[in-house]
Order: sequence, then structure tokens, then C-alpha cells
Amino acid sequence: MEIASREIHRIADWLAASRSTVVLTGAGISTESGIPDFRSPGGVWSKYRTVYFDEFLASAESRYEYWRQKCEMHRDFADAQPNAGHNILARWESAGRIRGVVTQNIDGLHRLAGSKRVLELHGTALEAACLDCKSRYEIGPLVQQFLVENSVPACPACGGRLKHATISFGQTLPADVLMEATRWAREADLMLAIGSSLVVTPAADLPRAVVAHGARLVIINRDPTPLDSRAEVCLRGSIGEVLTAIDAAVAGRG
Ligand SMILES: [Zn+2]
Repeated sequence: MEIASREIHRIADWLAASRSTVVLTGAGISTESGIPDFRSPGGVWSKYRTVYFDEFLASAESRYEYWRQKCEMHRDFADAQPNAGHNILARWESAGRIRGVVTQNIDGLHRLAGSKRVLELHGTALEAACLDCKSRYEIGPLVQQFLVENSVPACPACGGRLKHATISFGQTLPADVLMEATRWAREADLMLAIGSSLVVTPAADLPRAVVAHGARLVIINRDPTPLDSRAEVCLRGSIGEVLTAIDAAVAGRG
């Protein structure tokens, strides 16, 4: 971290002077909470057969397979807790340092850490949503119901099809959330892109929009991204450690 201290202080300067900073987060911020990057090769998803959204709609067998997989993941990751990175971002929001967080993650850890303005591009695994009447439910009791009855729970309100409130392959992103995220990106003078490979669109379009209007982009990620050459600063290494260092540098400015 010593090597990057000049960059840390530049970022702290920008953050302190910024009128509108938007943070974009991806899987990398949650790996330090023990949640694997589901999309990475050899990751959790590679052991499951992908249930596409149209299959989910089309057959009860696919809905069962979907719920079986989700309940298994729930068992493995439901106890994950926010880490230093999530906590610092929540604190920055309440201190007015950042406008909010746009996240590709479905783990709900930003909200658990206390962030209020969170745009979850891919939804949240902490809730289920009814595809028919749009009612939303806490996921825990439904997972229990699936495990006890070994059948897909129906919507308590209308008997309709319940699915995790996450975006499946083949399912479109919520237009209102995406529109709001795009507005934040267009109005930002600084974006911190943290733990995202910046490969998956439309999330990857947000930092592009930021640099397109001449605002600053900072990338903090373990691996190189396609947008590194467009960023003012790229930092590698532990996200928790990098954010802790920036936080200390900002606090030093009073
Ligand atoms: Zn319903």
C-alpha cells in the first residue's frame, strides 16, 4: 500500500472536492466477506445448470431446479457480513461524501452495512418477488418452506410464481433502476469503480458515461479492466485496505 500512497492522496483530494461522487461496485468488494465471484471460471455458477428466465416461466421442473440451486446458495452465503469496504461506503454516504452506490451484487451487503441509496442493478437475493402480482417477501422463510416441503413456494397473496428478486439470465434489468443509475453517472464529477471487471453491460456503460462527459474515473480492482486506460487512477490490491487508506487520507483533511 505504501507504493500507492501518492494515488491514495490524489483520490482523497478528489473525493473531498467532489460535488457528486458515485460508487459502482462488483463482486470484488464482497469476496472479502467470503462470497465468491459467481461468474468467475470455476466459480459457484459453473457447478449449476443455468436456468434461463424463459425456462423458469415455461416449466414447473425448471422452477424447482431454480429454487433448489438458490436454496443451496442461500445456505452457503446467508450468514455473510459486510466488510470494511461496505462499512466505509455506508459511512461516506451518511457523511455526504458520496451520492450513493450502484451495485452489480445481489448479496444485499451494502444495505446491511447501512447504505441507504443503493441501486441494485441485478436485484437482491434477500427477497423474493411474485412475477404475477409483484408482491415482495423476505427470502428466509420461503427457503425454509422449500426445504421442508420440497416444493416451490407459491405467492401467499395470489398463488402466483415466486422467484428471487434477482435478474436471471435472459431477464431484462429493471428500467427504473438502470435509468436512475445512468442519471447518477451523467451527473457525477467522480466515479469510483470498485471490484468490478467492467465487462458486463449495462453496468460497464456507467463508467463510460462518466468519462464521456469529462468526469474522473478511479478503478480499484484486483485484475485489469477494459477501461483502465480511460481511468485517472487504477489501484490493485485488497479493496478493504485501499478504501481504509483513502478513508484515513480523507479524514486527515478534516
Ligand atoms: Zn403474487
